Amino acid sequence: MTDASETANDFTTSEEPPIRVMALHALLYCPRLFYLEEVEGLYEADDRVYAGRRLHEERVPKLDDDSRELRSFEVSSDSIGLFGKVDAARIRDGGWVAYEHKKGRCKRASSSDKTPMAWPSDRMQVAAYAMLLEEQLGQSVTEGRIRYHQDNVTVCVPIDDAIRAEVHAAVEMMRQLRRSDDRPPVTDNEKLCRRCSLRVVCLPEEERITTQPEGERDRATLFPSRRDRRTLHVTTVPATVKRSARQLHIETEESTKKVPMEQVDAVVLYGGAQITSQAIAGCVYEKIAVQWVTAGGRVTGMVETPGRVRQRIRQFTALTSPDVCLQLARVTVVAKIQFQLQYLLRGTRGNENARAAVQPDIEMIRRAVSRAEKSESIDSLRGEEGIAARHYFASFNHLLTDRVAESLRMNGRTKHPPRDRLNCLLSFGYSMIFGLVQRTILTIGLEPSFGYFHQPRSTAPPLVMDVMELFRTLLWEMPLVGSLNRGQWDETADFEICPGHVWLSDEGRKKAIKLFEMRLTESYRHPHTEQSLEYGRMVELELRLLEKEWSGASGGFGQLRIR
Ligand code: SF4
Repeated sequence: MTDASETANDFTTSEEPPIRVMALHALLYCPRLFYLEEVEGLYEADDRVYAGRRLHEERVPKLDDDSRELRSFEVSSDSIGLFGKVDAARIRDGGWVAYEHKKGRCKRASSSDKTPMAWPSDRMQVAAYAMLLEEQLGQSVTEGRIRYHQDNVTVCVPIDDAIRAEVHAAVEMMRQLRRSDDRPPVTDNEKLCRRCSLRVVCLPEEERITTQPEGERDRATLFPSRRDRRTLHVTTVPATVKRSARQLHIETEESTKKVPMEQVDAVVLYGGAQITSQAIAGCVYEKIAVQWVTAGGRVTGMVETPGRVRQRIRQFTALTSPDVCLQLARVTVVAKIQFQLQYLLRGTRGNENARAAVQPDIEMIRRAVSRAEKSESIDSLRGEEGIAARHYFASFNHLLTDRVAESLRMNGRTKHPPRDRLNCLLSFGYSMIFGLVQRTILTIGLEPSFGYFHQPRSTAPPLVMDVMELFRTLLWEMPLVGSLNRGQWDETADFEICPGHVWLSDEGRKKAIKLFEMRLTESYRHPHTEQSLEYGRMVELELRLLEKEWSGASGGFGQLRIR
């Protein structure tokens, strides 16, 4: 039996737990950065952070004399309200001195006076360590020293009453921020954002676009336009994903393929593909999603890392408001119907016969979108969505050229199970979008079960169902129709025809996954941010814009359209 007192999480006290000294750095840099890291737990170590860690591990030099020294040790104080790890403490001139080691350059007094100085956040940090050290040793510590390795200089910081008061004030500010449910506003100093490790999560430029007047908007964006990792789809059975050091090994009967973990954002296991506990643990550590999917494409499970409490509280609070839900549902349904309308218009442009055939459906979809824009209830939005879908799929075959075989056309939309090849392809693609949206929702810390439009009637999480509506046409219907028109599908080899339903064969499944992954690497100009970015980044951007709808900067979500 496990004694509760032995567990790592201590839930026995309601007092303010101490805050790590490193958080002072974030606070002085930008209070919002402190909040994202320390309150929401969105800590992202970028290259500079890793470089700093290596420095602390490798380059804190040993003393070349017999002075007393303490190296890399933990200090904590409830009364000061901080804890951390001091790089080193040494006896100098009869008293203890706290040392901090920094990889970068020191501050200079001015452009003409090159006297080395400490950066404000470094000064505060070494003062905090000195105060903690003082309490722990029971001896006065009146000096801190910061070693800037790039300049090879050491800056002395007197630990006087003024800096002690600054540390106490900073701790009080951090405590107040920690009690708040709301993120502080983005900083006015845009230069800070360009070097900020959490710019991808914070999206400061996207927030400024929403909150600044039209004429003053800066369209620069700090959201990365490309995915730097790719999804590993394991479709072969039998296959087992194992881990060795920081590599994933995909072992099949024929071969073993090795993939560095830093190149992978998710492992998706189809059918009976296996993964070892070690590989799962490694994926969790490296923030790689692991998802199980049936051979038919239905997502059945996922490794879920702990959610972010403050983010989810804000989500729950917002999505219990009927007005917020209606507004978001309206944006989503209008966007979805607009996609269908624009795609039918675009797909039949220049083809008089096809355009004439789809025109009645186009008119009905136009009316549906116009009513949806003014809709005042979720039920009526559902009705307009259904009307538009009926007319869209009634005309869907007209998006295909005459060269596409009759067997690859649809006979009305059928699902659960799909009854023809085209419906089978549509359903499999929608499942891939579902999986991508679900992974992204969990990765950014939202709760997939709490949505604004779909009802929790099945096991499918409503927020995933809600958000994927934005991507059906863009991420799957368009590339799929393109591939059908290019003759890329084999009506025999790519499908398994069973009584009453059609599945993809192994070959067909691989082809569909490849087509989807290719689509994710294509670029699109986002109408809200005016940034050109890969479709693979679009889902994350939309979800972060969705979160901003209830975090003080609304208006950016659901603006995607076909040009
Ligand atoms: S991106 Fe800018 S506003 Fe956001 S946390 Fe970083 S510095 Fe602050």
